[in-house]
Amino acid sequence: MATQADFDRVLEKLGARRAGSSWMARCPAHEDRTASMSLDFDNGKILYHCHAGCSQEALLGKLQEKPIEIDHYDYTDESGKLLYQAVRMEPKTFRQRKPNGHGEWVWKLGDVRRVLFNLPQVIKSQLVIITEGEKDANTINALGYVATTNAMGAVSPKKKDDNKKWSAEYNEQLRGKDIVIVPDNDEAGALHLEFLTKELHGAVKSIGVARVPEKYKDVSEWNPGTEAFSTLIKYAEKYSEEPKDWRLLFHSYEDFEHAPPLSFSIDRFLQNDAITAIAGLPGHGKTFNALSVCKALLRGEGKLWGWFQINERFERVIYLIPESTITPFKHRLKLMELYEEVESGRLLVRTLSKGPAPELDDKRLLWAVKGAAVVADTAIRFMEEGLSDNSASEMANSLSNDLLGLLRAEARCVLALFHAIKGAKAAEVMNLENMIRGTGELGAVLATAWGVKQIDEKAAITYVQNLKARDFEACGPFQLVMRPAIDNTHDIQMHKTPEETGPLYEEQPDMNPRNNSQKREAKFANMALYRAWTEKDPELSTQEIRERFKDLGIEVKDVTIRGYRHDAEKEKKR
Ligand SMILES: [Zn+2]
Repeated sequence: MATQADFDRVLEKLGARRAGSSWMARCPAHEDRTASMSLDFDNGKILYHCHAGCSQEALLGKLQEKPIEIDHYDYTDESGKLLYQAVRMEPKTFRQRKPNGHGEWVWKLGDVRRVLFNLPQVIKSQLVIITEGEKDANTINALGYVATTNAMGAVSPKKKDDNKKWSAEYNEQLRGKDIVIVPDNDEAGALHLEFLTKELHGAVKSIGVARVPEKYKDVSEWNPGTEAFSTLIKYAEKYSEEPKDWRLLFHSYEDFEHAPPLSFSIDRFLQNDAITAIAGLPGHGKTFNALSVCKALLRGEGKLWGWFQINERFERVIYLIPESTITPFKHRLKLMELYEEVESGRLLVRTLSKGPAPELDDKRLLWAVKGAAVVADTAIRFMEEGLSDNSASEMANSLSNDLLGLLRAEARCVLALFHAIKGAKAAEVMNLENMIRGTGELGAVLATAWGVKQIDEKAAITYVQNLKARDFEACGPFQLVMRPAIDNTHDIQMHKTPEETGPLYEEQPDMNPRNNSQKREAKFANMALYRAWTEKDPELSTQEIRERFKDLGIEVKDVTIRGYRHDAEKEKKR
């Protein structure tokens, strides 16, 4: 900011003459005989303009080559001996110079000792005010306070890390004092304040911040009287390292008290406010599984597959299936007797025929999901195509975020379907790694994951196993029967309950030819024993049968024995 006095000095130096409301002087950017440069003073700024047509850039460039000295500030040691000067120039710039000992100036400080402005007074005073420049410091000094500044003023917003502006020696000069910082009312001022508080922390007794009234840029522009300034200093806010709102980063105890309890739309199968996955190889019944879940949610009572209690009735279920077109999906809806729910409007479907997968953050979708169950079949289809250059983990992160976005939009639950890796077919175990393809990071956001695997194509039997259960104990694996049951009952049915289903390698003997002929033979032998014993004594308990096997040196688990019972009863019915 220039003052009228500064302007007068510039006019004098350039030999300007009054011309109407302006001033005219010779333009330094061209051979000027007629004084074609006008000068005006406007709102703290000196404006130059060449009426002969020189560009503003050329004009200012020339002026800056030979700036006019407006004011200078002495920097002295403790005893008042001059060390160097800061010189304020017009066009606005600061330069520093030191005496060379022979009555001349050197415009380079070199290794001259750097000190705080007004050092002799600073040493003596307990209260020291720090401003952003010598002019402001002098404004305050004139009010009877002791103010200082660091040479070269504020930190530039463009060069945040310019540490050269503060030296450890300044801290020694200010040690144990009460400091009040008066920052300028702009971005640079805020940065300078942050910078100073960091530098001073630990060295001084206290740090206060006094802000000049908002409508002024700095204390010089404000130009307060002693009384107004004293009030400002008296009520300076105490600077604290502690951010006022740091606790807001965390949950309060009340948040916990009001948190909804862990709840399930379908008991121990589908969690509310969470993402549940169904994963499996293509053609292994994922979509029918998901449709069966939808049917249960729309019905709102009874048990899913005769096993999982249905706790809630949904008024809206959203099925997004960008992997299918409308016609085959309509067929499946009819098979499952879900088509009527499309008509009632409770089941909202989008297939590929309506266009590619919508963005999961589509405003209309986020509106529609409120209170609803949402199925993404499959979830991978909702990864952003534009991200194909990015790593798989970035894509997985973005998908996780989108799925969680549905919950933030108050979807009641999200069911995400995933393809398994090809190797899952021959695998003897199911886990998150082989059942969810290319989405390792996604596993972390899933509350629950179920793996499905067809283990008997002819009989349409799928094996279902829990792969992940967050905060609850999941049931053991079980088996479902698909097509014949769907044709007859319009839903999937339980084939073998968790109480009857053994581990995968026992239940899919045909798929592991390498070591299964042995297992199959063992099973035939055990079944023969089982049949013989139970024909004689149909009341035999599972435990008693286990004991009998044990007497023969054969270890058989209860669940396997219940499986034998299941198979034997089926045989009888035939
Ligand atoms: Zn010119």
